[in-house]
Amino acid sequence: MIQGMTDRCDCGAAAGPLGRCADYYYAILAEEQADPGMYRWHNPVVCCYLLQHPAEGHQNHFDVQFRWLQLLLDQGVEAVVRVAAYQVSRNRHGSRRGYDMTPLEKYAPLPPGEPATGFAASFSALPVVGGSFVFDGVEAYGRRVEAVAAATVERLSART
Ligand SMILES: [Zn+2]
Repeated sequence: MIQGMTDRCDCGAAAGPLGRCADYYYAILAEEQADPGMYRWHNPVVCCYLLQHPAEGHQNHFDVQFRWLQLLLDQGVEAVVRVAAYQVSRNRHGSRRGYDMTPLEKYAPLPPGEPATGFAASFSALPVVGGSFVFDGVEAYGRRVEAVAAATVERLSART
């Protein structure tokens, strides 16, 4: 470990019982593969994680990810699933128009700035019971993901 034995994540969050945020993130990605209900929050989970840990993402995608989270908070997860499915369908049918930003255009662009810390909700604080993130149902899990999304948008919107 390059930074010694610190248990702080890049995002500033303290490690939880599973470890750092990355340990939570990969555990979620594994569990959601087997649970279609949980998988509905896949896109927001990825966007939240990469925006809170930008060293693991790609600069070119952060703005779109920031807008996906605003779509989630504005219209709910069903809208995210619907817009994502529409994007996949466009690709499948060989559209040459590329990524359609229309559903995301009305949302605020990501303000420029340094990587942020101090998010009000973090991956390493997500509860895990019996090895599961959806121990109390996917709706409750979804509300927790939305809280992380809200904290991500709020923190990055205030970045200067
Ligand atoms: Zn973190």
